[in-house]
Amino acid sequence: MDALEAIRDRGLRLTPQRRLVYSALAEHAGHATADQLCSAISLKVPGFQRTTVYRTLDLLVDLGLARRVQLGHASAYEAVRDGSDLHQHLVCEVCGSTTDIRVPQLLEGVRSATSQIGFELEQVELVGHGRCRACSRSLA
Ligand SMILES: [Zn+2]
Ligand SMILES: [Zn+2]
Repeated sequence: MDALEAIRDRGLRLTPQRRLVYSALAEHAGHATADQLCSAISLKVPGFQRTTVYRTLDLLVDLGLARRVQLGHASAYEAVRDGSDLHQHLVCEVCGSTTDIRVPQLLEGVRSATSQIGFELEQVELVGHGRCRACSRSLA
Protein backbone atom coordinates (compact mmCIF):
# COMPACT_ATOMS: atom_id res chain seq x y z
CA MET A 1 0.00 0.00 0.00
CA ASP A 2 1.18 3.48 -0.75
CA ALA A 3 2.27 4.89 2.59
CA LEU A 4 0.34 8.06 1.90
CA GLU A 5 -2.86 6.03 1.65
CA ALA A 6 -2.47 5.43 5.37
CA ILE A 7 -3.05 9.13 5.97
CA ARG A 8 -6.29 8.99 4.01
CA ASP A 9 -7.33 5.76 5.70
CA ARG A 10 -7.25 7.52 9.04
CA GLY A 11 -9.68 10.06 7.69
CA LEU A 12 -6.98 12.72 7.63
CA ARG A 13 -6.59 15.09 4.76
CA LEU A 14 -3.64 14.44 2.53
CA THR A 15 -2.72 18.07 2.15
CA PRO A 16 0.02 19.12 -0.31
CA GLN A 17 2.11 20.12 2.72
CA ARG A 18 1.86 16.66 4.27
CA ARG A 19 2.69 15.07 0.94
CA LEU A 20 5.74 17.34 0.58
CA VAL A 21 7.09 16.53 4.03
CA TYR A 22 6.60 12.82 3.52
CA SER A 23 8.29 12.75 0.12
CA ALA A 24 11.20 14.85 1.39
CA LEU A 25 11.65 12.28 4.15
CA ALA A 26 11.29 9.30 1.81
CA GLU A 27 13.77 10.79 -0.67
CA HIS A 28 16.34 11.49 2.01
CA ALA A 29 18.91 8.72 2.23
CA GLY A 30 19.33 7.54 5.79
CA HIS A 31 18.20 9.72 8.67
CA ALA A 32 17.15 13.33 8.39
CA THR A 33 16.78 15.97 11.04
CA ALA A 34 13.79 18.30 10.88
CA ASP A 35 16.23 21.07 9.93
CA GLN A 36 17.57 19.10 6.98
CA LEU A 37 14.03 18.43 5.80
CA CYS A 38 13.13 22.11 6.18
CA SER A 39 16.03 23.12 3.95
CA ALA A 40 15.25 20.44 1.37
CA ILE A 41 11.61 21.54 1.18
CA SER A 42 12.51 25.24 1.10
CA LEU A 43 14.41 24.61 -2.13
CA LYS A 44 11.15 23.52 -3.76
CA VAL A 45 8.74 25.72 -1.84
CA PRO A 46 10.38 28.89 -0.56
CA GLY A 47 8.94 30.06 2.73
CA PHE A 48 7.53 26.68 3.75
CA GLN A 49 6.52 26.82 7.40
CA ARG A 50 8.93 25.09 9.78
CA THR A 51 6.12 24.36 12.21
CA THR A 52 4.32 22.44 9.46
CA VAL A 53 7.38 20.26 9.05
CA TYR A 54 7.51 19.53 12.78
CA ARG A 55 3.78 18.89 13.07
CA THR A 56 3.72 16.65 10.01
CA LEU A 57 6.70 14.65 11.29
CA ASP A 58 4.84 14.05 14.56
CA LEU A 59 1.81 12.91 12.59
CA LEU A 60 3.86 10.56 10.40
CA VAL A 61 5.43 9.03 13.52
CA ASP A 62 1.97 8.54 15.08
CA LEU A 63 0.75 6.86 11.90
CA GLY A 64 3.76 4.55 11.82
CA LEU A 65 4.98 6.03 8.54
CA ALA A 66 8.11 7.48 10.10
CA ARG A 67 10.41 6.64 12.96
CA ARG A 68 11.95 9.12 15.31
CA VAL A 69 15.51 8.41 16.37
CA GLN A 70 16.62 10.16 19.51
CA LEU A 71 20.15 11.52 19.06
CA GLY A 72 20.82 12.86 22.52
CA HIS A 73 19.37 16.37 22.41
CA ALA A 74 18.20 16.26 18.78
CA SER A 75 15.96 13.92 16.82
CA ALA A 76 16.35 12.40 13.38
CA TYR A 77 13.60 10.88 11.28
CA GLU A 78 13.40 8.17 8.69
CA ALA A 79 10.59 6.89 6.53
CA VAL A 80 9.25 3.46 7.44
CA ARG A 81 9.11 1.64 4.13
CA ASP A 82 8.37 -1.81 5.42
CA GLY A 83 6.94 -2.53 8.84
CA SER A 84 9.11 -5.63 9.17
CA ASP A 85 12.30 -3.61 8.82
CA LEU A 86 12.91 -3.29 12.53
CA HIS A 87 16.37 -1.98 13.18
CA GLN A 88 18.26 -0.17 15.90
CA HIS A 89 20.59 2.77 15.74
CA LEU A 90 24.17 3.66 16.49
CA VAL A 91 24.93 7.34 16.97
CA CYS A 92 28.46 8.67 16.61
CA GLU A 93 29.20 11.19 19.36
CA VAL A 94 31.89 12.84 17.23
CA CYS A 95 30.37 13.42 13.79
CA GLY A 96 26.72 12.81 14.68
CA SER A 97 26.18 10.18 12.01
CA THR A 98 23.46 7.58 12.52
CA THR A 99 23.98 3.98 11.46
CA ASP A 100 21.34 1.25 11.21
CA ILE A 101 22.04 -2.09 12.83
CA ARG A 102 19.91 -5.20 12.95
CA VAL A 103 19.92 -7.19 16.16
CA PRO A 104 17.68 -10.20 15.45
CA GLN A 105 17.62 -11.54 19.03
CA LEU A 106 17.08 -8.18 20.71
CA LEU A 107 13.30 -8.26 21.02
CA GLU A 108 13.28 -11.89 22.17
CA GLY A 109 16.01 -11.24 24.72
CA VAL A 110 14.33 -8.23 26.26
CA ARG A 111 10.95 -9.93 26.10
CA SER A 112 12.12 -12.90 28.13
CA ALA A 113 13.46 -10.53 30.78
CA THR A 114 10.33 -8.36 30.87
CA SER A 115 7.89 -11.28 30.94
CA GLN A 116 9.42 -12.32 34.26
CA ILE A 117 8.14 -9.10 35.80
CA GLY A 118 4.80 -9.30 33.99
CA PHE A 119 5.51 -6.50 31.55
CA GLU A 120 3.91 -6.91 28.15
CA LEU A 121 6.58 -5.76 25.72
CA GLU A 122 5.63 -4.43 22.32
CA GLN A 123 8.74 -2.79 21.05
CA VAL A 124 12.35 -2.09 21.93
CA GLU A 125 14.31 0.91 20.82
CA LEU A 126 18.00 0.73 21.24
CA VAL A 127 20.35 3.62 20.56
CA GLY A 128 24.02 2.81 20.88
CA HIS A 129 26.36 5.74 21.54
CA GLY A 130 30.03 5.80 20.66
CA ARG A 131 32.34 6.56 17.76
CA CYS A 132 31.89 5.43 14.18
CA ARG A 133 34.69 3.65 12.36
CA ALA A 134 35.95 6.79 10.60
CA CYS A 135 35.97 8.85 13.80
CA SER A 136 37.63 6.19 15.94
CA ARG A 137 40.36 5.87 13.30
CA SER A 138 40.99 9.60 13.12
CA LEU A 139 41.20 9.81 16.91
CA ALA A 140 43.58 6.87 17.19
ZN1 LIG B 1 31.69 9.61 13.47
ZN1 LIG C 1 17.33 3.81 10.86
